[in-house]
Amino acid sequence: MKYSERVLEELKKNNPHQPEFIQAATEVLESLSPVVDTDPKYEKAGLLERLVEPERTIMFRIPWVDDNGEVHVNRGYRVQFNSAIGPYKGGLRLHPSVNLSIIKFLGFEQIFKNSLTGLPIGGAKGGSDFDPKGKSDMEIMRFCQAFMNELYKYVGADEDVPAGDIGTGAREVGYLYGQYKKLTNRSEGVLTGKGLSFGGSLARTEATGYGLVYITEELLKDHGKNIQDARIAVSGSGNVAIYAIEKAEQLGAKVISCSDSTGYIIDENGIDVDAVKQIKEVERKRIKEYLNYHPEATYGEGSVWDNVICDVALPCATQNEINKAEAQRLADSGCYAVCEGANMPTNAEATELFLERDILFLPGKASNAGGVATSALEMGQNSIRSSWTFDEVDAKLKGIMINIYYHMKEACEQFDAKDNFVAGANIAGFMKVADAMMAQGIV
Ligand code: GLU
Repeated sequence: MKYSERVLEELKKNNPHQPEFIQAATEVLESLSPVVDTDPKYEKAGLLERLVEPERTIMFRIPWVDDNGEVHVNRGYRVQFNSAIGPYKGGLRLHPSVNLSIIKFLGFEQIFKNSLTGLPIGGAKGGSDFDPKGKSDMEIMRFCQAFMNELYKYVGADEDVPAGDIGTGAREVGYLYGQYKKLTNRSEGVLTGKGLSFGGSLARTEATGYGLVYITEELLKDHGKNIQDARIAVSGSGNVAIYAIEKAEQLGAKVISCSDSTGYIIDENGIDVDAVKQIKEVERKRIKEYLNYHPEATYGEGSVWDNVICDVALPCATQNEINKAEAQRLADSGCYAVCEGANMPTNAEATELFLERDILFLPGKASNAGGVATSALEMGQNSIRSSWTFDEVDAKLKGIMINIYYHMKEACEQFDAKDNFVAGANIAGFMKVADAMMAQGIV
């Protein structure tokens, strides 16, 4: 049995109730076979065994009191997966679906994503099964404070730097930061996505969505296509989706959809991104409200991927949102590119189908890396106690995304997997982390 297969078998045996983690690890280990199964030095150093085991997993109680004086207890997580190339870095997800499997899959992906940015950041992820929906501002604040009451022991500007993810935005990062400062008496870049008045970076809010569109634009250009001519379907209506829609429309593309967990909107006149911002960022309401702004648009319940027809799909909602039947439908109806804005939104069978059908496919660990890359730029600005202009950060972000594209492409070509960007991203992300781990000894 090959080295990569043996490690995968052991991983499945050791983590039987972690389907998302197994899914993410299977994809990576299969892609790495041409690298790690042809050079015995990796096996000798136990590199894969070390890579798939988090350096540290922290799970803790988060007790908090709601507005009626009732006590609630949620579970908090921080998985510090790999610090070979820099301090642990990755978001905090607040969503009822959060469990150890999901945080491990996200933390594992983050290792390769962060490496691909070219910046010195290790991989981590955290979060809680807390549901922010319908909670008052004060409840959110008390929850975030309770979360930080334990988390502060394990994080720090040179140690582990959490940030936003699903359910965690500027408001939550502000409350988490305030509590960290209260507990430690330190003003440091311990979180990214901070408010602009206390160390946040311009363009961080926009970065994941803008970065997704920059790399999509480059992918299309490199394959003789033009983003201006594209009819783009987006799913989701959170931070990634909103700024992907905004940038794609600025570049002249037509974006015709968005969605949330209850349903989807298709607007043939082009999605009105200001309306989506008002509904989701200000009022925190359901996407169905879009009909109040544009009654001519269509609202449907269920998945947008069962209903939309597009040239380019940008799934920006959540993991495993596109299944095989939906992938088939997209491919049959003329979709020629899928670029992931969320983490692993395409399930394993759907990914395979896109690759078989020669659909241009960018995996999230490459195409959504703009968020964490800009977080690393925020860390840099905090370290030098300075700040850059929006245009400076945006230009660096664009440069990073274009670099990721060509770095990935080079890895595909080197390993005879032209246009298989799944393999390209995994191999390119792995090489830097593996070099660092080899150089640092068995630790
Ligand atoms: N949660 C984002 C991601 O999945 C951003 C993480 C960060 O900025 O640290 O990459």
